Amino acid sequence: MTTVDITIEATDGDARVGHACTPSGHVVATPCFMPVGTRGAIRGLDADDLRALGVEMVLANTYHLMLKPGADVVEAAGGLHRFTGWNGPMLTDSGGFQVFSLRPKVDDDGVSFRSAYDGGTHRLTPEGAVRIQEQLGADIQMVLDVCPPLPSAASVVRSAVDRTAVWAARAKAVHRRSDQALFGIVQGGVDEALRVDSAERTVAIGFDGYAIGGLSVGERRDEMVPALRAAVGVLPADRVRYLMGVGDPVGLVEAVAAGVDLFDCVLPTRHGRHGTVLTDAGRLNLRNARFAADDRPLDPECSCRVCQRWSRAYLRHLLSVREPTGPRLVTVHNVAWTLRFVEAIRDAVRAGRLATFRQDTTAIWG
Ligand SMILES: [Zn+2]
Repeated sequence: MTTVDITIEATDGDARVGHACTPSGHVVATPCFMPVGTRGAIRGLDADDLRALGVEMVLANTYHLMLKPGADVVEAAGGLHRFTGWNGPMLTDSGGFQVFSLRPKVDDDGVSFRSAYDGGTHRLTPEGAVRIQEQLGADIQMVLDVCPPLPSAASVVRSAVDRTAVWAARAKAVHRRSDQALFGIVQGGVDEALRVDSAERTVAIGFDGYAIGGLSVGERRDEMVPALRAAVGVLPADRVRYLMGVGDPVGLVEAVAAGVDLFDCVLPTRHGRHGTVLTDAGRLNLRNARFAADDRPLDPECSCRVCQRWSRAYLRHLLSVREPTGPRLVTVHNVAWTLRFVEAIRDAVRAGRLATFRQDTTAIWG
């Protein structure tokens, strides 16, 4: 049995700061934010960019990689680390989240779906998702879960919890690679009792770490946070807790306050491509005409290499003429900003002032 060891160095309420160590010996500071490399790259960036930015861990999407170039190709290339040139820690999702957004055919054994690439029919089962992720070879892989859209009828959310638990046990039974951790996933929508039930059943099976899935899919913040807290309250303190798909400033702070250690989200990179800039003063739409002659950096408080050298006016120009350098550089800043924001959360926890930090974050981003 592999585990991702987590060492807690400071706490503030339920929030915790420390380090996590993957089975292959990579160490990351927690709470940790993972940028998303959808198709094997953080769009516009390469492995050297990530290293220079101080990215500690990245996520890659199994759904995309199993279809293109195919798990066999990645395996033959020596696995994702060697294929992508990123030798730091990496996590693959199971593909379930993308597949369930395609309105697939689901049965007790697995899920059938049409490829967005060629329209061909493919199938994922709990066992197949483990096998494919073993071929991809990330440090951490996720079980195949059932992620219902929100809002859904109570019976739909309940059956997703039941099926997720059965599938999690099947995934664990076939997981073999000792250098690769396997995380279970808690479902249950925004129903606190279902979240507790799902967390208890997942913990009873026993995993190297635990994710909370099926949140940040359209529900209100005041629905999400109680559901999240209900789930985290059941999870063991000595395992990593990972909230899937959350990376907005308020979401990050609220989840850390609930005791979450790990995050992924496409937001900073997707925003970057569309000219939405994250700054200490809030969101800024670089496409706005008022930035056409603005000589200031994207965020005067930011020390990233983009803010050190280029103006809002120049970056806005690149975006407006569709020069690929534009989205790339704004993405570099947004990832740098998000990493610095998470570092600030860690500092606040260490200093015992997370409550003030939460208030300040909500005042700017809430
Ligand atoms: Zn910057």
